[in-house]
Amino acid sequence: LIALMASSSLQPIQGMSDISAPDVALWQFLESTARRVLRDYAYTELRTPVVERTELFQRSLGDATDVVQKEMYSFEDRGGRHLSLRPEGTAGAMRYVAAQGQDAQDARLFYIGPMFRSERPQAGRRRQFHQLGVECISTPSAAVDAETIALQAHLLRAWGLTDYRIEINTRGEPEDAARVAAGLREAVASFRSELCEDCQRRFDANPLRMLDCKQPRCRELLADVAPVTTWMSAEARRCLDDVVTFLEGLEIPVDVNPRLVRGLDYYMHTVWEVTHTGLGAQDALSGGGRYRLTIGGRDVEGVGFAMGLERVIAALQAVGAVPADLGERPDVWLVAHGEAAFAHQFRLMQSFRQRGIACGMDLQGRSVKAQMKAANRSGATWVVIRGDDEIEQGVFQLKHMEEGTQQALELPALMDTVKQTAQQRAARHHLG
Ligand code: AMP
Repeated sequence: LIALMASSSLQPIQGMSDISAPDVALWQFLESTARRVLRDYAYTELRTPVVERTELFQRSLGDATDVVQKEMYSFEDRGGRHLSLRPEGTAGAMRYVAAQGQDAQDARLFYIGPMFRSERPQAGRRRQFHQLGVECISTPSAAVDAETIALQAHLLRAWGLTDYRIEINTRGEPEDAARVAAGLREAVASFRSELCEDCQRRFDANPLRMLDCKQPRCRELLADVAPVTTWMSAEARRCLDDVVTFLEGLEIPVDVNPRLVRGLDYYMHTVWEVTHTGLGAQDALSGGGRYRLTIGGRDVEGVGFAMGLERVIAALQAVGAVPADLGERPDVWLVAHGEAAFAHQFRLMQSFRQRGIACGMDLQGRSVKAQMKAANRSGATWVVIRGDDEIEQGVFQLKHMEEGTQQALELPALMDTVKQTAQQRAARHHLG
């Protein structure tokens, strides 16, 4: 049967990946570092289902958005329900928050998990990718927006990224949005027919999205259109200024980009995007903004962002900032010479592990030479060698693999020495 299957059928679906060792250590580093930072900002984790009603995404992201129109993995289940794999995390989080009602008034939630979009796979665009996102449920406030952007900068720095750029803009209040849409239509009307097909559609459905078009011709045509703030209230502009001032106070530089548009419909007031110079054409690490949604008849307001973890990894690799030691190597490898020693070492291995010492040994009864090779391959800091002589003398040979030094130790001294290595490894690992 296996022989009949093409080897390609052993691969994941195109645009999706297995994540395994040693790469998975980097994912664990990103996640554990993030969890610590998020705890310091008083966020708690929310885990929502990967599948939701299609309607939830249509309603919250907006029917006219690319994600809803072209990119969702939607299907009908056996009960005839219309469901979709989540293309992003905010809609599910908002469903949860709306269900909690008053109890979720000031909720600070984060999520980490896979998202699904049936895009054409290319560098930086995957069909299954992973986002870390936060949702801070709150009424509009420049301080909350600034804090959320500061959190994002904090996360990037904690992971070792510095060469990022934060662009920020405002969508104003819904009344502003209506004036902006009208203003844009008026500004574009004379050359509307020269825009791409998507933009022709956007002209009616969502004119703001024209500013976001990637087609060079559209970019050229739209380059001279006035900034969206032209059509906004003084209040909307002041709110943006306040966010920038708060961030200046925290020494977090941001660039105001009056043409920045976020693709999803639920945004109002502050929106931002973070890009990284080390990434190629798909250079966005993350996007965020303030939103107001009505879900199940309930209004939810908040501010949040979602970061693409594959992009964070690509940026770390591009600038050579992937941490070298992610604590994956064992502290100790045990080597046994003879059957009696094997049984001793086997027991010792378990008692090491009970003390938090990462260790391993060959369990197939191979030669000492083969065991030493395995010890080398494992990258362990120490090797503990034992044979009949050592058993008789009540000692263990402890060899430091890098330094090549060796000493005979009794059990308490052996434990102390390797435990120190384990503790140092754990401390390094948790430092992030
Ligand atoms: P969005 O929800 O579209 O604002 O995306 C937020 C972030 O998720 C982006 O800035 C990217 O870092 C990441 N992202 C979005 N779509 C993809 C994709 N198809 N593949 C990989 N990362 C993505």
